[in-house]
Amino acid sequence: MSPIPGSGLAKGLAVTLRTMTRRAHTAQYPDKQPELPPRSRGVIGLFEENCTVCMLCARECPDWCIYIDSHKETVPPAAPGGRERSRNVLDRFAIDFSLCMYCGICIEVCPFDALFWSPEFEYAETDIRDLTHERDKLREWMWTVPAPPALDPAAEDPKELGAARKTADKIAAAEAEAAAAAEATGTATGTDTGTGTAGDTGTARDRSTDPGTGTDAAPGTGTGSGTGPGDGPRTGGGA
Ligand code: SF4
Ligand code: SF4
Repeated sequence: MSPIPGSGLAKGLAVTLRTMTRRAHTAQYPDKQPELPPRSRGVIGLFEENCTVCMLCARECPDWCIYIDSHKETVPPAAPGGRERSRNVLDRFAIDFSLCMYCGICIEVCPFDALFWSPEFEYAETDIRDLTHERDKLREWMWTVPAPPALDPAAEDPKELGAARKTADKIAAAEAEAAAAAEATGTATGTDTGTGTAGDTGTARDRSTDPGTGTDAAPGTGTGSGTGPGDGPRTGGGA
């Protein structure tokens, strides 16, 4: 069956009319900034203090676009008689973003949390050499890294947290035990009232130097010597 003449034109006009009334999806960048997801892969920031120059990121980068230079320094021993140690000191850390393919492997493999994604993306250059960002620039990017999202309250605790809690519980139990033992010792030594036997009314005095005083009501002599509070059971003499 042959189509009705002019039906194609009518369909086209209908589509035009329909889309004319809808909101456009085109973002007018750069007049309007795009709303990016918070964990967008814009640029990589370096938190230099965490970097131990282990070179893992440079080795794992598939594009070989991370450049790291370092030297070794000797650190004096922490305690007298200890052994000197050596540590790596970072001299250069650069990423060539003209080669980077934003795979995120370097960030994943860094064992010391020194690399982070920042959503910043406006760093286009007219000279390709300027796309190699040195450590100062990478540090600047670090301040644009958003805070991590809140943890899901229904999520399982990570294993590390469980281990840390166990250790904290053990330490707390050991401390409570030590405190109880110290209290028991104090009670045993601190309840000495200095009373003797056989009518000895001697009063105990302070430890070691004071012999104490006492009057013996019973026949005989009683010196009432003893040790005072905090020094073990008193021995009272009396006839
Ligand atoms: S994101 Fe990938 S390509 Fe870019 S520096 Fe890291 S490892 Fe290399
Ligand atoms: S993997 Fe991390 S700690 Fe190791 S060199 Fe790279 S940024 Fe530094």
